[in-house]
Amino acid sequence: MECIFCKIIKKEIPSNIVYEDDNIIAFKDINPQAPVHLLVVPKKHIPNLLEIEEKDSFLILEITRVIKELAKTYNIDDRGFRVVINTGDEGGQTVHHLHFHLLGGRFMTWPPG
Ligand code: AMP
Ligand code: ZN
Repeated sequence: MECIFCKIIKKEIPSNIVYEDDNIIAFKDINPQAPVHLLVVPKKHIPNLLEIEEKDSFLILEITRVIKELAKTYNIDDRGFRVVINTGDEGGQTVHHLHFHLLGGRFMTWPPG
């Protein structure tokens, strides 16, 4: 029943972790779509954006802080970057554990595909 990101969080499967604290983990996407492609993930299993409860709202601020730190670490803070939260089938969500894609290191196009 366990999702793949919960397994990564529990270190049951390997991943390339770039940040971790009590509430948040960030690791490299296994199928990178840009020179920098990290996934910033709350450790709590929240299925998607629609299921964030009031009591978990602090996690969003924490994730914002981690994104800022990682953007600096990977030297994309000044150049610019993109944060994506795919939600549901038409949104392209394939892993049903809330995650923020942090993409950078190249020019992004708009509209997204
Ligand atoms: P999404 O399609 O928005 O749900 O994003 C899921 C992301 O998780 C995709 O970009 C996948 O490449 C990535 N992914 C899936 N399995 C793993 C894994 N074991 N380690 C790292 N990234 C993964
Ligand atoms: Zn999970």
